[in-house]
Amino acid sequence: MCEAASAEGIDIVSTTAYRSYAFQKDLYEYYVSTKGQEEADKVSAKPGSSEHQTGLCADLSTSEIDYVNGSAFGDTAAGRWVAEHCHEYGFIVRYPDGLEGITGYTYEPWHVRYVGTVAAGEIHNENITLEEYIEENNIQNVDIVEPQSEGGE
Ligand SMILES: [Zn+2]
Repeated sequence: MCEAASAEGIDIVSTTAYRSYAFQKDLYEYYVSTKGQEEADKVSAKPGSSEHQTGLCADLSTSEIDYVNGSAFGDTAAGRWVAEHCHEYGFIVRYPDGLEGITGYTYEPWHVRYVGTVAAGEIHNENITLEEYIEENNIQNVDIVEPQSEGGE
């Protein structure tokens, strides 16, 4: 996907993909200590429940915003390209704007998840979330994240 974007002059890099339990634990605890539990839960997953622990996700950034991760990505050329084209490569923007009530997370234009091109295409065309896609298709026994126990690393 990054190569296809690059061919169109769009610079996209993956800044984080797989995270270990220990890394997620440190990250989550950092957010709790700086923002408090309630705000932390809106922006960070508890250790053991981050999609990054599945290895199916990536956080993207671009030179236009000096490779930081943040909502500014959505307004960059790269962010717009990702929103429009990532489904062609099997990815979805996992936490869309304004759908926090469904996904449980605030808008993350930089966080994409691999679901395969079929599901990604439908989710993109119907403008729905992964939660709605799973419900619509009556998909059973799908763990959106893979539970992991502490010390599993
Ligand atoms: Zn992410």
